[in-house]
Amino acid sequence: MPDPIKCPKCSSTQISSQQKGYSTGKAAAGVILTGGVGLLAGLHGSSDINVFCLNCGNKWNPKTYFQQKERERTQAAAVYKEKWKNNFYRLYESGNMDEATEILKIQRGAMLNEIGVDKIYSKLKSEDNFGLVLKIILFSLMAAMIIWFLSCID
Ligand SMILES: [Zn+2]
Repeated sequence: MPDPIKCPKCSSTQISSQQKGYSTGKAAAGVILTGGVGLLAGLHGSSDINVFCLNCGNKWNPKTYFQQKERERTQAAAVYKEKWKNNFYRLYESGNMDEATEILKIQRGAMLNEIGVDKIYSKLKSEDNFGLVLKIILFSLMAAMIIWFLSCID
């Protein structure tokens, strides 16, 4: 369920939309959204429409705004994933299999039925190691570039 359209500045839902290039006179005829849920789908993905707040006058572009929101959601999901994984590792490694299995039931239900707790544990661990290797490679590349860059300066 997406958020209703709200002013990012003052949280008012008294929002009006305005197509780019319209004169001010025509803009006055713009649809006034109250709550805005119904029109969310229509505005999402449109870069031609600007939205402005009738309460504080703030203007923004829904497309840019939703892209930003989407980024925040993805980041929050990544943090959450790290949390449950670390919890699972801790429980598994301390031999608390019941609780470890509970976490997997929620997070990896289908996989749990298929391959079981032990295999999921080693699979997750190897995913982590792969991420670490990738980080080391990237870091080495960066270091090499810095050294190369410095060697170009006399
Ligand atoms: Zn506002």
